[in-house]
Amino acid sequence: MKALLPYAALLAAALVLPFFANDYWAVIGARAAVYWILVAGLNLVVGYGGQLAIGWVALLTLGAYTASILVARFDLNPFIAYAAGGVVGALSGVIVGLPALRLRTFYFAMTTLGFATILTQVALSWQSVTGGGIGLPGPTLSPPFDSAWGLYFLALGLAAIVTWMTANIAASRFGRSLIAIRDAEVAAEASGISKARLLTIVFLFSGFTAGVAGGLFATLQSYITPDAFTFDLSVTFFIAILVGGRGSILGPLLGNILLTLLPEFAAPLVAWSTFLYAALLLAIVLLMPGGIAALLDFRNRKPLESHRSIVPQPDRLRALLDHGPVREDIVLRNVVLAFGGVRAIDGLDITIRAGQVHGLIGPNGSGKTTTLNVISGYYAPQEGEAFLGSRVLPHGAPQTRAALGIARTFQTPRVIGEASVLQNVMVGATVDGTASFMEAALTLPRYRSEERTLTDRAMQALSVVGLASLAAVRADRLQHSELRFVEIARALAGRPAFLLLDEPAAGLSTDEINRLGSLIKAIAAAGTGVLLVEHHADLIFDICDHVTVLNLGRELAAGTPADIRAHKEVVSAYLGA
Ligand code: ADP
Ligand code: MG
Repeated sequence: MKALLPYAALLAAALVLPFFANDYWAVIGARAAVYWILVAGLNLVVGYGGQLAIGWVALLTLGAYTASILVARFDLNPFIAYAAGGVVGALSGVIVGLPALRLRTFYFAMTTLGFATILTQVALSWQSVTGGGIGLPGPTLSPPFDSAWGLYFLALGLAAIVTWMTANIAASRFGRSLIAIRDAEVAAEASGISKARLLTIVFLFSGFTAGVAGGLFATLQSYITPDAFTFDLSVTFFIAILVGGRGSILGPLLGNILLTLLPEFAAPLVAWSTFLYAALLLAIVLLMPGGIAALLDFRNRKPLESHRSIVPQPDRLRALLDHGPVREDIVLRNVVLAFGGVRAIDGLDITIRAGQVHGLIGPNGSGKTTTLNVISGYYAPQEGEAFLGSRVLPHGAPQTRAALGIARTFQTPRVIGEASVLQNVMVGATVDGTASFMEAALTLPRYRSEERTLTDRAMQALSVVGLASLAAVRADRLQHSELRFVEIARALAGRPAFLLLDEPAAGLSTDEINRLGSLIKAIAAAGTGVLLVEHHADLIFDICDHVTVLNLGRELAAGTPADIRAHKEVVSAYLGA
């Protein structure tokens, strides 16, 4: 509820504006609202998804021309024309956006800019349709929207709806998935998030809002020419989000208002605007990297208790992992994987049994992590196959593993630092999300009940690992050992049939290692098979049912802990006793 206060205050201020201000301010206000309709959608791409879509003005251009042409040349109803502009924007959003799947950061930014430049050139040259450099009139509305304040309230209403929808999306599994691919892409894929699918939906949505904003923009301008859609405008949208702070709705909203109003209060500075924006950007990056949102984040400035201990509660596992008995094993058959000349795995056979703890030990570089990466689909084996039961695990498709019931943690914890611990763990439950993007955007009942289920499950997973009290804390404030348990909680939240742990005890105290050991044993007892890659021989011998010792990518020994302890080569080469 408290989170709604700033929005209510902004809305109230917007509603009383007509009582204090003249028509000139109606135009400024409408402009801020129209820009926000675009920026709100773009915020999901840039602020949440971390994609540098810097040329988003292209979609404003497309929406503006689509709506204007449909009204001027075909006499269409302006509202239908706005919607058509939205549809064109949505489709183009996907076309402009999809290179993001292949191109990294700056290269992607350049393609979006290139698209914007091409569009302006097309609008200039295609005179018979666009009016070329002379332009064409924007859609005109009938009463009550034909006055300055009429248009203001129309834009304000739509802006409010878009704000509500994007806030809903941000709070849903789609918002969590977006920041997950932004900050921890590999972990996101391991949790079953398909980057391609997610970005396609988000580009559709934010293309749509940009297209609708374009139509309204044309009405607001009353006449459009290609030079209304400048590079500066595109950069302003982008900077509004950076000023506001990524991963926030309120911050960019304030940033957008600020950047729309700034030229009004500082008219003489307009000639300097490019320089000013550059300076502003530099100041933000250097002085407040979290933007306005970080300044307003009071809750995460409260100090945390300094002596925190992690006390897992394995007895709560059964309620969480309520899957029936797992009968299939994970089987690697003659797997070979070489990096250049290095044979990281060199003909490996392993069977990880359901409901057992399988230890994988060996010196550094012996291929333990690589084995785990083959099972989790991050690497494709060059020879041999990995199976789940009788099914071959698909190659190079890590996002398929969560749905197959295979979860993992990482040798270096990969968490979303800017998200809360609870949100991080909820990412692990993504596979169980079935509500659609629109159901989330409109908070329909099915989405809401599903979200409650996912929240409950994530809280259960957190209490299992003993971190429930830190659920609301930003993950980047946690200690290293806590992050290891957060990763386990995230993996458990998907209720996996198999859990792959890559050196979970590294950096833990002796007490913590003991508790981790009991937790792992309990996880296996609850029916989830565990592959445990570890350096701590004691932990391995304590809790494993079966151990494989690797050396140079090959099996040096395999058997029960007792067999391994008695194995001469292992003892002399590796255990050193
Ligand atoms: P472990 O986890 O047992 O310490 P790894 O599986 O990480 O070992 O590595 C096994 C071997 O493969 C090492 O020689 C390592 O240098 C090499 N290796 C692992 N990943 C890569 C990679 N992405 N590119 C090149 N070589 C790699
Ligand atoms: Mg390793």
